[in-house]
Amino acid sequence: MTHILMIGTGYVGLVSGACMADFGNTVVCYDIDKAKLDTLSRGEIPFYEPGLAELVQRNRDAGRLRFTTELDAAVAECQVIVIAVGTPENPDGSADLSFVFSVADSIGQRLDGYRVIVQKSTVPVGTNREIRRRIAAAAPPGADFDMVANPEFLREGSAIGDFLRPNRVVIGADSERALRLMREVYRPLYLNETPVLSTDIRSAEMIKYAANAFLAAKISFINEVAELCEEVGADVQVVARGMGLDQRIGAKFLHAGAGFGGSCFPKDTKALLTMGKQHGAPMGLVAASIEANERQPRRAVAKLAALAGGEDKLAGMQVAILGLSFKPNTDDVREAAALKIIALLRAKGARVRAFDPVAGENAKRALPDLELAAGTYECLEGADALVIVTEWNEFRVLDLDRVAGLLTQKLVVDCRNIFTPALMAEAGLAYASFGRGGKAGA
Ligand code: NAD
Repeated sequence: MTHILMIGTGYVGLVSGACMADFGNTVVCYDIDKAKLDTLSRGEIPFYEPGLAELVQRNRDAGRLRFTTELDAAVAECQVIVIAVGTPENPDGSADLSFVFSVADSIGQRLDGYRVIVQKSTVPVGTNREIRRRIAAAAPPGADFDMVANPEFLREGSAIGDFLRPNRVVIGADSERALRLMREVYRPLYLNETPVLSTDIRSAEMIKYAANAFLAAKISFINEVAELCEEVGADVQVVARGMGLDQRIGAKFLHAGAGFGGSCFPKDTKALLTMGKQHGAPMGLVAASIEANERQPRRAVAKLAALAGGEDKLAGMQVAILGLSFKPNTDDVREAAALKIIALLRAKGARVRAFDPVAGENAKRALPDLELAAGTYECLEGADALVIVTEWNEFRVLDLDRVAGLLTQKLVVDCRNIFTPALMAEAGLAYASFGRGGKAGA
């Protein structure tokens, strides 16, 4: 059993901490945000992630997981220190490493004896070397440590399953002693033969960016194909299926729609682009993926304008938005397509009311004057048009006759292709989706 200190209790830190405790380790979690630690100590979870409350409770009850405001004591008692703080985007697109470096400085000052410092935040290549330098510079004589780059691949909304049953674990290290400890941390995954990739530190850092940029490129690729499908009269759903059955391509991340958002793909693609520029390596595909993605919210609004008979018709229109989180099963609205679509609609003079099963509060923090409805159908009352932005399951089973009865102009834009043109036509709704219902005819 390994004693682990988890620094940062956000989506990644809290899930990783609870799951590492579930592996049998003893985990103490620390965050600079005292209010968050208070919430956690009361047994509440500060964000929405399916199954997390139960997992945290179970491990607290077993005495394997706790929360602390005492960093000194926590550093003293743990063999492994995991950094899982945010690395948001700087205005120039590079990764803001100030949180990571500040953690490095505070660990360094408190170090005594030997520790393994595990870097889980997504950081540009070379960052772990700088963390090592900073810790060494701050550390008192006699302190000793090794660095491990252990990027995280969990997805919000299915984070626990992703952590407990990952496709792979990447461990970048240059010390056998650190690797031995990491094997203890992830022991159940070694036992069930999860692929564990031991790499050098720089390759581990790069794997995370390369993987995210590749997935983002897949989404942007199918979105561009969808645009062409509309012009030539092909159906992107059928095209994606035909592509995805090829095992070299795979069916995942081939869903056309309003584009990718969230706390990772937008910032990680930009950080990779910046890294490429810094090192003189062209990242043309990544640049194109970002550019294609930025068009998608504008395309959603253009679709509504086309249904309404012109852009000028958006002025004064009451629009219902279903779904605010960047994807279903999370309350995260960072870089969510819904917020971009709302801003674009408002700029054209439309009035917006929105509903999301869990992300309303977070959206209101980002857009304080956003009108929120209490439920799906309340959101539609008195609305001219509906834009479905996030494919929550409860929106997949909308009663379309009821929708048609509520919408004054009976216009629906489906940004995730969760309905079919035939079903919508049957309900008497004018419908637009992505990559289907082309102009060219059959
Ligand atoms: P988050 O914003 O949800 O959480 C970060 C936490 O770090 C916050 O609670 C914050 O208070 C805390 N923090 C900041 N500075 C601190 C300090 N000096 N000491 C202690 N705590 C501090 O971020 P997140 O979504 O969990 O992402 C964390 C990292 O993991 C990022 O690098 C991200 O790119 C990466 N990542 C995120 C996901 C995801 O789906 N969210 C998936 C894989 C990797």
